[in-house]
Amino acid sequence: MAVDARAPYDTSNIFARILRGEIPCKKVYEDDFALAFHDINPQAPVHVLVIPKGEYVSMADFTAKAPDTLVTGFFRAVGKVAEELELVEGGYRILANAGTNSHQEVPHLHVHIFAGAPLGPMLASKIS
Ligand code: AMP
Repeated sequence: MAVDARAPYDTSNIFARILRGEIPCKKVYEDDFALAFHDINPQAPVHVLVIPKGEYVSMADFTAKAPDTLVTGFFRAVGKVAEELELVEGGYRILANAGTNSHQEVPHLHVHIFAGAPLGPMLASKIS
């Protein structure tokens, strides 16, 4: 079910539990600012999620409230994941859902990285 991206942070969400080590993940990268792991239901040959180490529901929440060091570190981590997984040459797509219209399911900011094959149009079909 889609979440309301304006809701208070829910510390029991699945990515919070992954960050606390309560639930395993297939880790691909970690530093002081971010954790990256394979999506459990991949939508492309490469489908990795990058999440910040902090309690932020959405991009708006994160960019409004996170300290500059974390904002910078998080986005650097996204770039490092793309580099380390050797996605730069072939290309990749970054996507972050926020709120109900986007069907955000997990109320902890996450960036999807898709790669490994031609990814088709930006959206499945044009929406008006
Ligand atoms: P979103 O719709 O942008 O909130 O995407 C949430 C993503 O989290 C989906 O692509 C799910 O497949 C993925 N997901 C949910 N639970 C897990 C988990 N335990 N480990 C890895 N990925 C997960």
